[in-house]
Amino acid sequence: MPVPTRNELWTKVQELLQKNLSKPSYETWIRPAEFFDFKNGCLTLLAPNSFSSDWLRKNYSHTIEEIASEIFGHEVKVHIKVNEEFLSEKNNKKKTFLNTENNSIATRDNSDIKSKQSPAKKFLPSLNLRYVFNRFVVGPNSRMAHAAAMAVAESPGREFNPLFICGGVGLGKTHLMQSIGHYRLEIDPGAKVAYVSTETFTNDLIVAIRKDGMQAFRNRYREADLILVDDIQFIEGKEYTQEEFFHTFNALHEAGRQIVLTSDRPPSQIPRLQERLISRFSMGLIADIQAPDLETRMAILQKKAEHERMRLPRDLIQFIAGRFTSNIRELEGAFTRAVAFASITGLPMTVESVAPMLDPTGQGVEVKPKQVLEKVAEVFGVTEEEMRSPSRRRPVSQARQVGMYLMRHGTDLSLPRIGESFGGKDHTTVMYAIEQIEKKLSSEPQLASQVQKVKDLLQIDSRKRR
Ligand code: ADP
Ligand code: MG
Repeated sequence: MPVPTRNELWTKVQELLQKNLSKPSYETWIRPAEFFDFKNGCLTLLAPNSFSSDWLRKNYSHTIEEIASEIFGHEVKVHIKVNEEFLSEKNNKKKTFLNTENNSIATRDNSDIKSKQSPAKKFLPSLNLRYVFNRFVVGPNSRMAHAAAMAVAESPGREFNPLFICGGVGLGKTHLMQSIGHYRLEIDPGAKVAYVSTETFTNDLIVAIRKDGMQAFRNRYREADLILVDDIQFIEGKEYTQEEFFHTFNALHEAGRQIVLTSDRPPSQIPRLQERLISRFSMGLIADIQAPDLETRMAILQKKAEHERMRLPRDLIQFIAGRFTSNIRELEGAFTRAVAFASITGLPMTVESVAPMLDPTGQGVEVKPKQVLEKVAEVFGVTEEEMRSPSRRRPVSQARQVGMYLMRHGTDLSLPRIGESFGGKDHTTVMYAIEQIEKKLSSEPQLASQVQKVKDLLQIDSRKRR
């Protein structure tokens, strides 16, 4: 097959997808994606808005990569960006300090693509462009945390050190924390800002120990001017990580550097956390975020709609906000589904047309771990119990690895929580499983098509429920 010219590649991929996808899927997701660039084996596409870019990444990026690689004759990676954000990214080449090799700002969603290029980068995700102060809606539930976050970004290392932000799942901790990083870099583009999840910190530490790279590890973390450590509750029970973190904390604190931590609960309630860390974590300011009230939830949806350049009737916003009360991620998910549903079916965005798909029981709000287990079992011909058991029979372990991979990509569960869904497997096992599947997907078409099948099933299921 002759090698296609640069933008012909995307046209060809589109043609093939058109034959293989249902018309609404193709029209909704694939056709509107525009070719932007094809360089160094990387095909960059522009999606019209953030929900469609998320959707493309989650559901189609592997397929696009596969087809494009086949046409091109070499491995092709795909990057999907939002039109508007891509422009601002170009104007605004912020780097986080732990990620200096990497010029672009990675979001969680495409970190899996980057991870294939170099294992070291995977552990150093940078800031998500969406997580900035002006996209954060302040309500009575978050006023104090927001004010503290602004203060810390403006004068780091002063009053509130560390700033400890705590609150339930999906209430905006990561958003607020990363906003501090963005704002700091705006004020001082030379600042060394490090954003790291506790999982990453732990994994980096393990790698450093194994490879005898402790000095480099320490230098790296202790050089930060502003360090953002997300979900510190996962340090619970990890003695060695706690030890190392204690020293990192002290080194930074003594040097007057700003530390920001988030957790799903206050320090004193994190089980199996060393006393000395509890006291370190509590010595600055503990600010909590509560569940938002109706008005705040409506304002959040309103803002999101503005960003997606959509006009939604007020009663629809009120309807959605009235239904999803305790988790903003779910609230956003419902909004996205409503928009997707309306665009696929061609129905107007009204309460009447959208209501039936928003499950009143609150189930099916997002892909649930249970559904992943169920569908993987079905497609791979094993049972859910087998996947949760210690069995190492090949079909079972393969299915288990796929299940872990899909949970990572389809839900917001952390590695340890995914491990729990499989009968208490260790988070390193989960990490290994995900890497294995990521590797195999490009070389084993049969596996890739089984994985795609599970993905399709999960999607179809959630539509049915609507
Ligand atoms: P957490 O880290 O507490 O689990 P996140 O920061 O990941 O929660 O927030 C979940 C989602 O909800 C993100 O997409 C985030 O942008 C959005 N979000 C949370 N709080 C707000 C807010 N106050 N205003 C706008 N969006 C918000
Ligand atoms: Mg978070």
